[in-house]
Amino acid sequence: MIPYVRDIEIEYGRCDRVSPLIRRVTANNPGPFTFKGTGTYIVGNGEVAVIDPGPDDPAHLEAILAAVAGETVSHILITHHHSDHSPLAGPLKARTGAPIYGCAVAGHEAEDTGEVKMEAGHDHDFRPDVSLCGGGTVSGAGWTMEAIATPGHTSNHLCYALKEEDACFTGDHIMGWSTTVITPPDGDMTDYLASLDEIRGRQFDVLWPTHGPPIRDVDAFIAAYIDHRQERVDQILGALKTGPARIRELVPTLYADVDSRLHPAAARSMLAAMIHLVRKGVLAADGTPGPDSVYRLA
Ligand SMILES: [Zn+2]
Repeated sequence: MIPYVRDIEIEYGRCDRVSPLIRRVTANNPGPFTFKGTGTYIVGNGEVAVIDPGPDDPAHLEAILAAVAGETVSHILITHHHSDHSPLAGPLKARTGAPIYGCAVAGHEAEDTGEVKMEAGHDHDFRPDVSLCGGGTVSGAGWTMEAIATPGHTSNHLCYALKEEDACFTGDHIMGWSTTVITPPDGDMTDYLASLDEIRGRQFDVLWPTHGPPIRDVDAFIAAYIDHRQERVDQILGALKTGPARIRELVPTLYADVDSRLHPAAARSMLAAMIHLVRKGVLAADGTPGPDSVYRLA
């Protein structure tokens, strides 16, 4: 079982001091993919970085600006281009002059998720001023952060390690309140599992996801996160022992414990697992593995 952490006390628009170097302002966009809302982090004191400014919400922009009144915003750091993370970067840049850091999505711009409403959608306008694809270090007065490429949830996902507190801002890569949705083709399960190993190997003291409270029992949590993916794989393999099946036939049974509003997303995560398993030679599909393919044990 994943030792979820969901206790968080927030008031929308309020700035909470959560560590010596970290403050958080939460946007009023709660939902099935965002938990209580987007937690925008302000790192440093006096000269600060803002991580994931969030959705294009004027009230949230004003709340961030009020929180940093009298200070200088020197960096706007983006974990990935989903619409609950990056759209406010442009308006925040316009008001502060701070450049935007992150990784642009290389392909998939014409991505079609069909009739399925995925996550909060993609921010197709996301264009960082400074590219951190593949990693890089940024610093300000009293803080140093390393961007760590963590593809999987999206191809351009970055985590940001805060050296002074042995902390890592994990975006949607690792979240305390929920597992992460992996949506092909931009999401990739093979990459995701490698990115979990990457963060686990660094043995951070604390993880700060964009949604929900921090994760403090880091290694046990990531271990359980990895086990959970393996359990899902085992369930798929178990179900296919009785014969070939399509994803839509498997989801209602295998995700019976998940909010049914999330079943379309679960189907995309299952597709990500199917693609991963076909790549590994464990499963076979009739043709290119897709949402409507029939899958069988190889
Ligand atoms: Zn996301």
